[in-house]
Amino acid sequence: MRVLEVLMVIGLASGAAAAQGLATAVAEDVAAAQHAGPWSRGRWLDLTHPFDEQTIYWPTEKGFRFEQGTNGPTPKGYYYAANRFASAEHGGTHLDAPRHFSAAGQTADAIPLEHLLGEAVVVDVTRQCAADAAYEVTPDDLVAWETRHARQLVDVILLLRTGWAERWSDRAAYLGTDQVGPDAVAKLRFPGLSPLAARWLVDHRRIRAVGIDTASIDHGPSTHFGAHVALCGGNLPIFENVASLNDLPEQGTFVVALPMKIAGGSGGPLRIVARLPDAGD
Ligand SMILES: [Zn+2]
Repeated sequence: MRVLEVLMVIGLASGAAAAQGLATAVAEDVAAAQHAGPWSRGRWLDLTHPFDEQTIYWPTEKGFRFEQGTNGPTPKGYYYAANRFASAEHGGTHLDAPRHFSAAGQTADAIPLEHLLGEAVVVDVTRQCAADAAYEVTPDDLVAWETRHARQLVDVILLLRTGWAERWSDRAAYLGTDQVGPDAVAKLRFPGLSPLAARWLVDHRRIRAVGIDTASIDHGPSTHFGAHVALCGGNLPIFENVASLNDLPEQGTFVVALPMKIAGGSGGPLRIVARLPDAGD
C-alpha cells in the first residue's frame, strides 16, 4: 500500500488503526527503497566511544559533564526528557580540525564534507605497538600497506589500528597514566604516527583525513607534536580515540565521520561510523 492510499484511508478510518496503517505503509516503502538502493547490502559499524563520566580526556582537561534535567511524566500526560552537557573540544572520540595546530587551518565548521566521508583503509600496526607502547608509525609501514594492496594511499580516509581501542575502559593502560593535571602529560605513553610519516602523507600522497585508535595522532611522549603540525598544516582533519578498528577490513569500507559543527572550533565531538560490505561483495 502506498502512502497516498493510506492518507485516504486515514480520512475515513479512526485514529489508531489509520496511524498503524500509515506506519506499515511507510515501512514498506522504506524497505522497497532500500532494496533498490546502494545501501541495501552490508551493515553499519559504530567506531565511536560513548560520552559519559568514564570517557577519556587529555589529563589537563575536565571530563564530559552531563547534567540531568527534570526527566519524567508531565502533568499533561506526555513524557519529557532534556539534559545539558559540557565538554572540551578534544576528548573522547573527536575531531582535530586543521586549526588545532595551524593558524591558517580550517576550523571545524569549514572542513569540506569530502574530507569527512569516503573509503577508509586500515593500516594495522598492532604487532609493532604490542612490542613498543610508544611506537610511531613509519613511512615504511604505509608503503608496506601500499605494496600489499597494490594501490596508493590516495582519496582515502587513513585509519591507523594500534590495538589501543581495546584498552579504552582502562585509563592507565590506554594513556600510560591515570593521573590528571599538567604533571601527568610527561607520563603519557601510547602509539602514534611519526612526524616523518605525517609529512610524507602531506607531501607525497593525497588522503582525505587520518584517524587513530589512541588519544593523539602524535605518540604519548611527544613534546612538539610534529604529526599534528604536519597534518594540520596540510589542512587534513584528524580523528582521535576512534573505536572498534579491529572489526574493519583493510580496505573497501565507507566511513562517515561527522563532527559537531562548532563555528570557529578547533575540533569537537565526533560520530564516526563505517559501512561494511557483505562478505560476498
Ligand atoms: Zn584532539
